[in-house]
Amino acid sequence: MSVTDLPWSCRCGATHGKLEVGRGSGTAAVCHCESCTRAQRHFGVDASQAEGVAVFQTTPDRFTIMDGAENLGLARLSPKGAYRWYARCCNTQLGVSSTTPKFAFFSAVQTIFPDPAPLGKARTHAFVQQPGGKVKHTRLMPAIIALLTRSVTALTSGNWRDTPFFDVETGQPIAPPEVLPKGAGSA
Ligand SMILES: [Zn+2]
Ligand SMILES: [Zn+2]
Repeated sequence: MSVTDLPWSCRCGATHGKLEVGRGSGTAAVCHCESCTRAQRHFGVDASQAEGVAVFQTTPDRFTIMDGAENLGLARLSPKGAYRWYARCCNTQLGVSSTTPKFAFFSAVQTIFPDPAPLGKARTHAFVQQPGGKVKHTRLMPAIIALLTRSVTALTSGNWRDTPFFDVETGQPIAPPEVLPKGAGSA
């Protein structure tokens, strides 16, 4: 598989860029957790835990913003919640990052890609709801190993410094995190 620059965009088009997709660049997965579902709904995308939210787990250096970097906003569903990046121009969620740049992780929601097909078919499913309130994961361990491998590689190569989300000198996110109102995006 050769390397492809896959275009992504917010709904209004003011914030857009490309994702470098190629061998080992990331893992397509579907997350069925309540937070991912609520976040998509909060940002105006129809979502359910049964269907889950399709994402592509990669590293921030592969995610490039060509226009609209000044529109980046950072939201959390709770004070300790994941860093959820969105485009403030039209409230489009872009994806989730770690809370420190040294852990090079970015999980882009697939709804920002006009053509997500090159991301591949998701074989990993996380937090699939089971009867009785239990959850089940499918092929989660290979996805975790892949994301840790990518993060360690980015750390040793120095590629972790190439991120649109953090000031790597201070380790601070480039936008102040805002905690969304309790129950945001609830069905
Ligand atoms: Zn927009
Ligand atoms: Zn989730």
